[in-house]
Amino acid sequence: QVTDTLAREGPSSPSYDWFQTDSLVTIVVYTKQKDINLGSITVDHQGDSFRVETIIKDYSYLIHIGLSHEIQEDFSVQVVENVGKIEIVLKKKESTTWKSLGCPLENHNSLLPKKDTDLYYRKCQLISKEDVTHDTKLFSVMLPPSTHLQVPVGQHVYLKLTIAGTEIVKPYTPVSDSLVPEFKEPVFPNSKYIYFLVKIYPAGLFTPELDLLQIGDYVSVSNPEGSFKISQFQEMEDLFLLAAGTGFTPMVKVLHYALTGIPSLRKVKLMFFNKTEDDIIWRSQLEKLALKDKRFDVEFVLSAPPSEWSGKQGYISPALLSEFLKKSLEKSKVLICICGPTPFTEQGMKFLHDLNFSKDEIHSFTA
Ligand code: FAD
Ligand code: NAD
Repeated sequence: QVTDTLAREGPSSPSYDWFQTDSLVTIVVYTKQKDINLGSITVDHQGDSFRVETIIKDYSYLIHIGLSHEIQEDFSVQVVENVGKIEIVLKKKESTTWKSLGCPLENHNSLLPKKDTDLYYRKCQLISKEDVTHDTKLFSVMLPPSTHLQVPVGQHVYLKLTIAGTEIVKPYTPVSDSLVPEFKEPVFPNSKYIYFLVKIYPAGLFTPELDLLQIGDYVSVSNPEGSFKISQFQEMEDLFLLAAGTGFTPMVKVLHYALTGIPSLRKVKLMFFNKTEDDIIWRSQLEKLALKDKRFDVEFVLSAPPSEWSGKQGYISPALLSEFLKKSLEKSKVLICICGPTPFTEQGMKFLHDLNFSKDEIHSFTA
């Protein structure tokens, strides 16, 4: 139950209702918030449990029910954004009248701080696995038909495998299937597929096992997590992306969203740090995108370049940053995103503060 304390501290308490026709059951969630979208809701029907989790600011509102009757596998989820209403339409297996929606299960109708809730997983099937560089692969997995889940821009999920009898969990940031999709897709395609760019570390705990999965095998995928908010893009004019190695992964959706969804945007620049040219993920796609979209530029920096490399080299440094972070206008609204190995991100953050960028102008991707 929603306690008074939680209701006072958190967003105004959401509620739900349900109604039916001969063939359909509709569950309606009233979030009483305006910034709800399809990425805020995760719905799962697994065994006897029907579960709707809605993220409202930093809280999680859960509907968790053992349905009274059987339903068909697929259902639809819609959001009326301006009133924050969510409708989940279930198809009855038999056209009988339901006397109740079902029985409440654990934490049903609760509004809890998100940090106090456990991750919830569903098993996804591996659909494809393609080499991207000598050690990085693009994996695609398929959500079960009875799951609605969309990973918002800038957020990650946890993948879980049982390795030698122990459950191992690691975070990964979904990407789109390519950088230059014909640019027709909506930002949140209502897709059943999730794509991951994963670097396989031969001596690593998790990635060699992930790499051993065969097409058709399963990996568990959690609900989305992360602190990045699309609202950080509001009125943005210059976007600077600082990525090192697989720290490139959050930049994929950020880049796509910025180029397709931010009318105020003038310039996007990516500085991509890698050891060698062979390590650069999607290099030719990045170069193609830069040719195709005048607003986008990419610069590669190598920390272990061959002698013939004529581009920039070294680790992240104040000199590299001050040259790179040139605003298109003196008063441009700027966002800088940074992601990579911890020392890279920590040093980068320090240099950015030294260069007088404010906290609001910087987003670092971390766990
Ligand atoms: P680990 O067992 O963690 O080992 C990694 C490497 O470190 C290996 O080479 C290993 O030999 C070495 N190592 C381990 N322990 C030590 C030690 N004590 N001393 C010295 N060396 C050691 N990765 C991606 O590829 N793609 C992503 O999209 C992605 N997204 C992420 C999102 C977030 C929010 C975070 C925090 C991380 C993300 N990562 C991503 C990294 C990912 O979570 C894993 O850390 C990574 O895949 C390595 O996992 P592993 O278990 O295979 O390797
Ligand atoms: P890598 O070892 O191939 O290094 C890539 C580049 O990072 C190097 O060329 C160098 O420029 C820089 N770098 C490496 N070590 C550095 C140091 N000590 N000081 C300064 N710069 C340094 O990188 P990788 O193996 O691809 O690792 C990528 C890292 O990004 C992982 O640690 C992963 O956990 C992290 N990551 C984090 C997120 C997230 O938090 N959201 C997402 C994806 C990846």
